[in-house]
Amino acid sequence: MQGKEKRRIGITTTVPIEIIYAAGAIPIDLNNIFISNVHRMGLIERAEIDGFPRNFCSWIKGLYSIALDSGIEEVIGVTQGDCSNTRVLMEVYQLRGIKTIPFAYPLDRDEGILRLQMERLINHLHTSWECAHDMKVKLDRIRAKVYRIDEMTWKENLITGFENHYYNISTSDMEGDIARFEEKVDRFLKESSERKMIEEDVRLGYIGVPPIVEDLYQFIEDNGGRVIYNEVQRQFSMPFKTDDLVEQYRLYTYPYDIFKRIEDIRKEIDSRKIDGLIHYIQSFCHRQIEDIIIRDKLDIPILTLECDIPSRLDARSKIRIESFIDMLKK
Ligand code: SF4
Repeated sequence: MQGKEKRRIGITTTVPIEIIYAAGAIPIDLNNIFISNVHRMGLIERAEIDGFPRNFCSWIKGLYSIALDSGIEEVIGVTQGDCSNTRVLMEVYQLRGIKTIPFAYPLDRDEGILRLQMERLINHLHTSWECAHDMKVKLDRIRAKVYRIDEMTWKENLITGFENHYYNISTSDMEGDIARFEEKVDRFLKESSERKMIEEDVRLGYIGVPPIVEDLYQFIEDNGGRVIYNEVQRQFSMPFKTDDLVEQYRLYTYPYDIFKRIEDIRKEIDSRKIDGLIHYIQSFCHRQIEDIIIRDKLDIPILTLECDIPSRLDARSKIRIESFIDMLKK
């Protein structure tokens, strides 16, 4: 006899997955399954056919279509601390019969409000703080291994920018299967520790939301650079030393104000000896405005790179990246 299928819960950004797993459910990061779908351009077209404007963020269109395409029945929507479009996306999901569960990060990192939000999620999913804390211990073991991948990227120079991006970003949902993901990480750690050191001319940091284009990291490496720091992706892996689940999600910089993010970026620029930054901005995203603050507050060469759809880099972007790396080489 087959066991009962686990409840699959879509997520549109990082939320406390310890609670979802503790409830015996599976978190599915809709961003990850959209961007790895071979028909990702078709998913965007489908959203446009259903009425999403052409001049609207492609990630949102992808999140809409992939949820319908993959038969997800409920989604946790972060109504504060992620994307200004999430609220309307949740309403369209509801229209299409997908249940939505709201979750909000308090802008001022208030411990009490965050605890309350997490408690609501715990109650909604019928689990407990004890189970969530037990799950934290289990997931922390995997987070520590991904942290090691990050160290091997910038300290030992054994990991490519894309591999660093991939393993960090996958911690948002642990690919929906904790045991399988841990095995994959273990295999990767073993394989990559036996490699030869990568040598590049220019050490780059990547900040901003994850890229929608597929060949960015490879193109950078083909031109003598390497991304040795992926800011937001690293934050998804939560490389923080704390035994407290609420504190863990308070230390996570992405959903709160930009100034804490800048402190974190500054620290990593210094310790990783980064030569320049690529600030990625997504077309039609409100976060583009952050570029003003980032340029004002960080004293390092920055290339602001805007991309729109999930395809390869266009010629203009390639020329800009090449010139940026050349300038840093000099
Ligand atoms: S890129 Fe910007 S607009 Fe698009 S989903 Fe992310 S936060 Fe929202």
